[in-house]
Amino acid sequence: MRTHRPHRLYVGAHTRTRPRLTIHSVHELSVCQALLAQVAEIAAGRGAIVVERITIELGPLCGVEPALLASAFAIVRAGGCAAEAALVIESTTVTIGCMACGAQSQTEPNRLICAVCGGFRTRVVAGDEMRLRRVELRMPESRSPVA
Ligand SMILES: [Zn+2]
Repeated sequence: MRTHRPHRLYVGAHTRTRPRLTIHSVHELSVCQALLAQVAEIAAGRGAIVVERITIELGPLCGVEPALLASAFAIVRAGGCAAEAALVIESTTVTIGCMACGAQSQTEPNRLICAVCGGFRTRVVAGDEMRLRRVELRMPESRSPVA
């Protein structure tokens, strides 16, 4: 792995010609580190001892590859309060708004065209986000509340 590899390896998730990497993506690793920092803060704030499960929503256009994120997670979680945690990745759909007719429609990540009028001047309303949805914690009194 070259040390001068750029931080972002990819322009977007909708690029279908991604190279298959056997190494771990620097981008997904840093995304994972930020995610786990947020989770650790929540766990510490609630006095939890162990993080059992982390659920995130991943939009197809957010630029993060779910498989790479999962493998990055397996590395980054080691040693922390989430070392045994499961990562659940829920893929969201892409919703676009049409600038011509104003309609909103769900569409494929690689086909950002209005489903109502066929217009191509659209903006992404949803599907380009990554959101921490749920953190399941194990508390000292062995209860598992959902944060
Ligand atoms: Zn339209």
